[in-house]
Amino acid sequence: LNRRLAEFGTTIFAEMSALAARTGSINLGQGFPDTDGPEEIREAAVRALRDGRGNQYPPGPGVPELRTAVAAHQQRHYGLTYDPDTEVLVTAGATEAIAASLLALVEPGDEVVALEPYYDSYAACIAMAGGRRVPVTLRPHGGAFRLDLDELRAAVTDRTRLLLINTPHNPTGTVLTREELTAVAELAVERDLLVVTDEVYEHLVFDDAAHVPLATLPGMRERTVTISSSGKTFSFTGWKVGWVTAAPALVAAVRSAKQFLTYVSAGPFQYAVAEALNLPDSYFTALREDLRAKRDLLAAGLTEAGFEVFRPAGTYFVTTDIRPLGESDGFAFCRSLPERAGVVAIPNAVFYDHREEGAPFVRFAFCKQPETLREAGKRLAGLR
Ligand code: PMP
Ligand code: GLN
Repeated sequence: LNRRLAEFGTTIFAEMSALAARTGSINLGQGFPDTDGPEEIREAAVRALRDGRGNQYPPGPGVPELRTAVAAHQQRHYGLTYDPDTEVLVTAGATEAIAASLLALVEPGDEVVALEPYYDSYAACIAMAGGRRVPVTLRPHGGAFRLDLDELRAAVTDRTRLLLINTPHNPTGTVLTREELTAVAELAVERDLLVVTDEVYEHLVFDDAAHVPLATLPGMRERTVTISSSGKTFSFTGWKVGWVTAAPALVAAVRSAKQFLTYVSAGPFQYAVAEALNLPDSYFTALREDLRAKRDLLAAGLTEAGFEVFRPAGTYFVTTDIRPLGESDGFAFCRSLPERAGVVAIPNAVFYDHREEGAPFVRFAFCKQPETLREAGKRLAGLR
């Protein structure tokens, strides 16, 4: 293993899912729903397979039906206009979109400013691109993890190539506000930075939180690479269909990298995801409502069990502080939790460069059946 990757080891998700399987624990670690997405969309995939649509290499940028549907989705939900032919790229999940964007846009030695804690693939992809990550830490403030805009400004130097943003934010559940994003946008314009924004949880926002795509803010459309995926919005994490929307030159750059990573991605699923993106608004509302109820259920169980709960405004994760339980090391806690309580969770420290900042925080996924969440709450109550 080369020096760039040596520090990363095995992803925490693989480690923790294996631990869950080995111990028969309830797996609230890796974020994937235990209910598949809509029947009609699964049928659409079957139809595509049967009719021979996408069984051979689809076009490099993605099938036209899906590119058109992505553009229509951006228009319908956000009023953003993208040309399906030059401004949309289909990828193998958001994961490939992130990798291809960083490989295409970062020069060796460039600095990439990213919000910490960050989704684990960011650090590895920045490293593979030869870049240097500069984390800006979100810290608890008034019951949620917030971005310190002064710290963000201070993190930008003459070597900064791009800002890597994630909202709604995994693992904290923070949804950046319009005001915060406006400040990010102003900084990007002032310092002439590119922005890669991971918005895979765009439809998973609750209560009065609203997802604001960075590309909608003044000066941003031309400098922003927006990433999303069918995994979260349609509960098909195994399909690995994601996409990028950006100005033509940026899409062309990302495509240059993508063509040598996977060349193309899963043909028949692309047709099905095109249909999914065209589902009526009621689908998106129902998804949100279902997850809000699940959030409340798990948050209540965790609170009852003695955790401090940071109630997420978005995503399907809840971050907790384990210190009220008399614990302080999230790694040790998560490694012993299967044995002690039959539950698997993720230590947030894995998402930090500043490990000590993340030490007492632990993430639980709530995209699970209500009875599973109730049972997890019961088991965790036994920790006290
Ligand atoms: N970004 C974030 C913030 C995520 O949480 C995930 C999924 N865990 C991804 C990207 C990857 O998405 P995909 O499964 O579509 O590759
Ligand atoms: N995004 C999911 C999570 O944060 C996991 C994806 C993965 O296993 N790489 O849990």
